[in-house]
Amino acid sequence: MACFPGPLVIVGSGLAAYALAREFRKLDTEQPVVLICADNGCQYSKPLLSTAIAQQKNADDLATASAADMADRLGLIIRNNTRVDAIDAEAHRLIIGNERFPYGKLVLAVGAEAVPLKLDGNAAAQAMTVNSLADYRQLRGHLEQVEAERPAIVIAGGGLVGCELASDFVSGDYDIDLVCSGEQLLDGLVPAEIATVLRQRLENAGVACHLSRRVESLHQHPQGLLAGLDNRQHLPAHALISAIGLRPATALARSAGLTLGQRGIAVDRYLQTSDPDIYALGDCAEVDGVSLLYVKPLMACARALAATLATTPVRVAYGPMPVTIKTPVMPLLVAAPSRLQPGSWSVDQNHDGFRAEFRHGDGHLLGYALTDKRITEQSELNPQLPEFF
Ligand SMILES: Cc1cc2nc3c(=O)[nH]c(=O)nc-3n(C[C@H](O)[C@H](O)[C@H](O)COP(=O)(O)OP(=O)(O)OC[C@H]3O[C@@H](n4cnc5c(N)ncnc54)[C@H](O)[C@@H]3O)c2cc1C
Repeated sequence: MACFPGPLVIVGSGLAAYALAREFRKLDTEQPVVLICADNGCQYSKPLLSTAIAQQKNADDLATASAADMADRLGLIIRNNTRVDAIDAEAHRLIIGNERFPYGKLVLAVGAEAVPLKLDGNAAAQAMTVNSLADYRQLRGHLEQVEAERPAIVIAGGGLVGCELASDFVSGDYDIDLVCSGEQLLDGLVPAEIATVLRQRLENAGVACHLSRRVESLHQHPQGLLAGLDNRQHLPAHALISAIGLRPATALARSAGLTLGQRGIAVDRYLQTSDPDIYALGDCAEVDGVSLLYVKPLMACARALAATLATTPVRVAYGPMPVTIKTPVMPLLVAAPSRLQPGSWSVDQNHDGFRAEFRHGDGHLLGYALTDKRITEQSELNPQLPEFF
């Protein structure tokens, strides 16, 4: 049982917020828990946003429970459609417009924001993102208005989300241009050999890939939009999706004067910020210097933080956490090496796919990428990976 005065207040309703609420309720059914979120508070799985077109799912299909259902199930008070403007840490109050909302302990689970795509042109404001259920609803609504038989979509960004969206949309009835500023897709995640084959398979499926190119402008056009690239090429489009990256949301932490890390809100392995009554987890948090914008780490954090808040302090520890990249044209499992660790790739290809290993000069395995049938080889490689911490 928790023993602190005042409610536990969680800001956010994404996977991190609901995972924490669920884990906390397993240990403590009494402590008042208030969840405050800027969106409508529906429970959904964000990774499904990049496979929803192929599965013909609209936004309502992806929402697995309403805020009211979640409040009932977990014994929460949920204030949805409520944006927290700032935190008065000294007074233990959230600032919501003119209201001052008290907390005993506060958890920030405010996620990550899309890096803005800088665009010129009279339609620049029409660029879209796919970083929330609301974004997906808006995109689907927009595409439903398009009269073309095969709507054209330009996707800016050749990382995990850009490649997954290209793969998903091309399997629907869409023409896709994938524009990637790097020399290869999935830069930093896989070696060039794998990226080249992924590109070929996406192109065979109908995706036009533009490497070493940037989208610089978006203009109105009689048939829709025109996306201008940095080589003066213009791509007709009915939608431009920006997937150039995400960055942890730190505005609330800044307002409270909390310490920030290189990328996110700095927390220790107890998920505690520089204020002893404020914690953070999920995409917004940088845990002991490590910022990982994936589901498995946030689940580990939710379990540890629930125990810390409800019973006894538990340090979070991560094991190897490979990520499945959802590109059905090339099944891909990646344990990405840290960009800070020096090493090099060695790549083996056979008729079952690729096995690429990223090793330090001393021979230690630091990361890997496996494709197609060779994904099963993860059981051999995972035990060799270093612990994250
Ligand atoms: C398209 C896509 C595909 C992905 N696929 C995978 C995958 O296959 N595997 C994987 O491991 N990871 C994947 N990820 C990453 C994964 O989905 C995220 O790591 C995870 O969902 C983050 O959850 P979160 O709760 O931290 O943040 P979010 O889900 O972003 O939640 C943030 C919450 O904070 C609220 N909020 C923010 N600011 C305020 C405020 N000021 N006041 C009130 N509320 C506020 C928002 O309304 C929202 O409810 C994918 C991400 C995307 C975008």
